[in-house]
Amino acid sequence: MKQVITANTIKDMISQGVSLDTISGSAVITPSAQDAINAHNGRSVATNSSYSSQTSSAGGSSDRFPPLPAGVPSVPPEPIVPSAEYTWVPGGDPTTPEEIQRFFYSPDIMAIKKDMINVARKMWKRNMVDGNGGNITIRVGDNLVLCTPTLRSKGEVLLDEIALIDLDGNQKAGWRKRTSEALTHLAIMKVQPKCKSVIHGHPPYSTAFAVANIEPPTCLCSEAEIFTGPIKLVPYFTPGSHELTIAVRDTAKDNPAILLANHGVMAWGSDVEDAYWKMENMETACQTVTIAAGLNGGKLPTINHDGMKDIFEIRRSIGMEDPREGLQECELCQNDSFTGGQVCPIPESTGASVGTSLNPQAEDLVKKLTDQIIANM
Ligand SMILES: [Zn+2]
Repeated sequence: MKQVITANTIKDMISQGVSLDTISGSAVITPSAQDAINAHNGRSVATNSSYSSQTSSAGGSSDRFPPLPAGVPSVPPEPIVPSAEYTWVPGGDPTTPEEIQRFFYSPDIMAIKKDMINVARKMWKRNMVDGNGGNITIRVGDNLVLCTPTLRSKGEVLLDEIALIDLDGNQKAGWRKRTSEALTHLAIMKVQPKCKSVIHGHPPYSTAFAVANIEPPTCLCSEAEIFTGPIKLVPYFTPGSHELTIAVRDTAKDNPAILLANHGVMAWGSDVEDAYWKMENMETACQTVTIAAGLNGGKLPTINHDGMKDIFEIRRSIGMEDPREGLQECELCQNDSFTGGQVCPIPESTGASVGTSLNPQAEDLVKKLTDQIIANM
């Protein structure tokens, strides 16, 4: 007769220090015994715990708990960090039209198109885009990028309408024409290999900072400091111009969340969800400081230098070096252009209104007008 190994047999062997390797290869091992073996091998089960005494009186763990649903492993797996980053084989881009078309409709690329549509819907639902505004790109090869089409609302654009382009913006597949703003996205991808996806939108609070030409104050919102870092302002250039593309590239290379003066915002990440999160972080931070500026007389206490050093450490641990490391405290949390709602005294020479912070061009203009008025007196 074959030896039958039950969960209790395994438990007794473990508690007596008998190696489980001594179980005969011809023995019949019950499913609950196999679970106990897996648990012991995988997690080093405690032998004198209350768990052991409870299972002995209750007749084994399999009797105490319902069976696992189909497909669930019998022991907890090692936890992993989720990532939707797409990786490709370098030098393996499709080249012929037929290869490109098959690649464009392959299961992996169709799954990424779904991610793109999900983010488009979230942007529209969260008021981050208006009209046909906003656009999304995802890098899928050495020289291939998925791109939302022009003149389609992000609330309605369909998976079938996504285009495939190369890093110079030439359309390679898809029946809808690509967005004209893709060139700024591609410029970032060319200089920043960590950038696998870029999104552009007009979320109201961060766009308000962009329209006011004010960089959001730093050292205030810890999560934004970790995930977006300093939110830099790209000066105004005509949309679609070469100057704008160059300015975006140079500012966004080391800053994944940026403002486009008098226009909107851009964010990039390791995948499209990551890029979207950065835009959401940026928008929430801008909304929060706008509201906070109306509290406590606008005196907003900043995170101190040691606190910021800890934040840089966290950023390094998630692969995001911070361009501000090494700056002194006064340089680090310099928020000159943000008044935080504080009531500033009216400058006698200009008569500027209370609580405003003028940009350099406006200050120049006010000075010229004041000089003219004084000259004419
Ligand atoms: Zn725009």
